[in-house]
Amino acid sequence: MRLLLFGPPGVGKGTQAKLLSETYGIPHISTGDMLRAAAASGTPAGLRAKEIMDAGKLVPDDVMIRIVREVLASPRASGGFILDGFPRTLAQAMALSHIFEELEVRDFKVIEFVADDEEIVRRLANRLVCPADGQVFNVETDGLKKGDPCPQCGTPLIQRDDDREETVRERLKVYHMSTAPVIHYYQASGVVLSVDGTGSIDVVNREIKLMIQDAEAS
Ligand code: AMP
Repeated sequence: MRLLLFGPPGVGKGTQAKLLSETYGIPHISTGDMLRAAAASGTPAGLRAKEIMDAGKLVPDDVMIRIVREVLASPRASGGFILDGFPRTLAQAMALSHIFEELEVRDFKVIEFVADDEEIVRRLANRLVCPADGQVFNVETDGLKKGDPCPQCGTPLIQRDDDREETVRERLKVYHMSTAPVIHYYQASGVVLSVDGTGSIDVVNREIKLMIQDAEAS
């Protein structure tokens, strides 16, 4: 199974990707996680990516395409994958089509998460992450605050630098301008399955699995 998770920042793609990765036994490939790991390692390229991320902008297409080509061609992705956060521009979508041709990938689905901007801003303002294990929590629903120990591993929880409201608004602007139109690229080939991203984690997860089941049966 090959899935592309598409939608605005903070809509729940990462959370659902982790669950779907367990359900289907395929790796979760998040371009944001890869960039954050590069930033944490302190390499010049990683630090440059962090600057771009913290400004709410997109890392250049050529860099992203190179990273994704490498990971999709690796043995890790040969039995299927969940791609989270790529493509984010039309150029990336077109490059991905070439990569799929090269790798003879013919069958994939795009899961489109839908939510409005105010919901996104509210969610991201309340999002906490564990810098050690990447678990995501919500201030409102999990009753946790910045600095509390991660319930899984005890590391103090942080707010991502790019989850500050000002940066979130910039990320949404970039999303509407550069990323949202990419869905049309896929709509024509009938591979898009849309889900309301505002439901609870369980509800959204159930809907996605049902949509995939239906699509596979038809
Ligand atoms: P995410 O964790 O998916 O929200 O990604 C965090 C940040 O990483 C984004 O706001 C971008 O700055 C950068 N990023 C992740 N994926 C891409 C991509 N496909 N193209 C360009 N920038 C990306």
